[in-house]
Amino acid sequence: MTKTHRKSDQPKNKPLRTPMDLSYAKVPQGQVYVIPERCKECRFCVEFCPQGMLTLSTEINAKGYHYPQIREGREKDCIHCGFCNLVCPEFAIYTHEIAAVDTPIQEGSHEHAVTE
Ligand code: SF4
Ligand code: SF4
Repeated sequence: MTKTHRKSDQPKNKPLRTPMDLSYAKVPQGQVYVIPERCKECRFCVEFCPQGMLTLSTEINAKGYHYPQIREGREKDCIHCGFCNLVCPEFAIYTHEIAAVDTPIQEGSHEHAVTE
């Protein structure tokens, strides 16, 4: 019987196969910086962050806009991909790489591979 892969079947950080460069892969860790007064609440950074670690503040800036904040408990989840910086039309958010850590992907994690 054919099994169809759905994104929701895939545990977080589990690839369909073990990446060939896993032995030396490092995941960058970033520090997020926000300039609240520049933000115009377009939400691009919140929507495009692949880690889903951003949300909008409950407070507003001087222009009356809610600005991005890191979700509670997600402070170490930034992978310094730069998407938030890339999509922000106001240059109000950016990141710096602070470390590179071993990938959380484990060898042999391809047990979740799905047949077509
Ligand atoms: S650099 Fe990437 S992971 Fe980090 S906050 Fe921006 S979009 Fe999210
Ligand atoms: S992309 Fe820039 S302007 Fe839009 S919500 Fe994020 S920080 Fe604010």
